[in-house]
Amino acid sequence: MSRAAIRSYAMQIRKLLGYENTDYIHAPKLFDALSILFADKGLDFDFRIMPDEHEVFFDKEEAYTDMSTGIIYIKESVMEQACRRSYKRGAFTLIHELGHYLLHYLQNDVRLTRVAEDVYIPAYCDPEWQADTFASEFLMPYDECIMMKPEEIRKAYHVSRQAAEVRYNKIQEE
Ligand SMILES: [Zn+2]
Repeated sequence: MSRAAIRSYAMQIRKLLGYENTDYIHAPKLFDALSILFADKGLDFDFRIMPDEHEVFFDKEEAYTDMSTGIIYIKESVMEQACRRSYKRGAFTLIHELGHYLLHYLQNDVRLTRVAEDVYIPAYCDPEWQADTFASEFLMPYDECIMMKPEEIRKAYHVSRQAAEVRYNKIQEE
């Protein structure tokens, strides 16, 4: 139920942004675009690139979304990785934080309805699982990935080998 809700929500957001299912998402460009697009909807989408050693980050944390302000803090090494289109974790980390922003910061708030409708995410579910699930569904659309092997998923959507394998295995389980 919850994965299905997150999938449908992720697909709504992709559609809203004009992505085809076969399009790969360049996360840093998307973040730039969202800060303009959401401003038109009366929402703040504020992300900040910080030095890796900044105190806002916990140990080993790659990025962080402040739930009281909605501000997304991203380590500069992570942003650099995401910009380089490398097949590494950077892009997934950014979209994980976008998941926190959309599903948790905007949740239970009239602001959410300005972005998409028909999303009900039970609050008792683990927010980290939800953000990971959002990133996976958003970056690697189910309808395409269902026909792909992990290596094809990785190349088509510029994700890490691990993200592609997890995506593939989860689809096999469904
Ligand atoms: Zn998180």
